[in-house]
Amino acid sequence: MNPFTYERASDSQAALALGAQSGAKYLGGGTNLVDLMRETIEHPAVLVDITGLSCATEAVGNGGLRIGAGVRNTAAAADRIVRERYPLLSEAILAGASAQIRNMATVGGNLLQRTRCGYFYDDAAHCNKRSPGTGCDAMEGFNRMHAILGASDACVATYPSDMAVALAALDAVVTVEGPGGARDIPLVDFHVLPGDTPQIETVLEPGELITAVTLPPALPGRSSYRKVRDRASYAFALVSVAAVLEVQDGVVKEVRIALGGVAHKPWRANAAEAALKGAPATEAAFRAAAQAELAPARGLRDNAFKIELAQRVITDTLVKLTALQEIR
Ligand SMILES: Cc1cc2nc3c(=O)[nH]c(=O)nc-3n(C[C@H](O)[C@H](O)[C@H](O)COP(=O)(O)OP(=O)(O)OC[C@H]3O[C@@H](n4cnc5c(N)ncnc54)[C@H](O)[C@@H]3O)c2cc1C
Repeated sequence: MNPFTYERASDSQAALALGAQSGAKYLGGGTNLVDLMRETIEHPAVLVDITGLSCATEAVGNGGLRIGAGVRNTAAAADRIVRERYPLLSEAILAGASAQIRNMATVGGNLLQRTRCGYFYDDAAHCNKRSPGTGCDAMEGFNRMHAILGASDACVATYPSDMAVALAALDAVVTVEGPGGARDIPLVDFHVLPGDTPQIETVLEPGELITAVTLPPALPGRSSYRKVRDRASYAFALVSVAAVLEVQDGVVKEVRIALGGVAHKPWRANAAEAALKGAPATEAAFRAAAQAELAPARGLRDNAFKIELAQRVITDTLVKLTALQEIR
């Protein structure tokens, strides 16, 4: 491990001042960053400990909810308002990692966790994300977990967070503070596709600090987070689906769908949503919408199965949500 200094920020202004130092990185729960430092993938010169900052969850005036970036994943999942109004967020968080890791992990750190691509972690491998311009060994290698949507010739890594997939379906907004002040970024625009610069994963500027995630008022209807993985627990998603569905008189009134495990960012299923609004809430319509979403998908040697899998999980999730509304 490279030498580094450790400083603890007393408030967000102090954090921003410390975070402006060359080579500084914020330290949340450390469950991803410290691993990456041990593996010599990340080499911060200064660790700015921000635990203890932005730890409140508060209702906001219009019926929404603001979750501080320092709130631990366990606390976010257990929050009464989250469980009552945004149950898919609670389900998504609880589908990730282990209880011990969730006790440490923060909302801000969860959003910025890095890919689990094995070639990114292996410094003997070529990886454009770790060392830009060196190539991508995943392209012709073991790529079962890799992206089927939005990938590029430079990178086929997937983004691993479960929580962020639910936040994408919920139209969450990320608040960040930086030297130029505060700004709000829709979650769906926060992470970026790899293009030619897979080392750039978000629109965050150097030194910017995530302070909160805000959820708009909950939609009526039913919601769910479905995660398909190789093991029943403690495994990252092959494909996951976060969905909110409102059906009225047999017709889809409102629908939000986001996919995990398929791309370099939480994938909002805009094509499926457009196909479904006003459509009959039937299995055939759900399958056609899922097919439309996955039409641009491209498989590699080991991951092509995800294209059919994603369609099936979308379809089945919406069928189950429709049935739940009928028995309400
Ligand atoms: C064995 C294992 C299994 C896991 N399984 C899953 C899983 O199935 N699903 C899943 O979603 N996750 C999983 N995780 C990942 C886990 O959710 C993340 O490690 C965790 O959420 C990261 O949060 P943290 O607070 O510890 O972040 P840290 O490790 O502290 O930080 C991560 C990154 O975020 C930056 N950062 C932190 N807070 C802020 C902030 N407020 N502003 C700006 N930058 C910030 C840090 O500088 C760093 O770059 C797993 C992790 C492990 C170790």
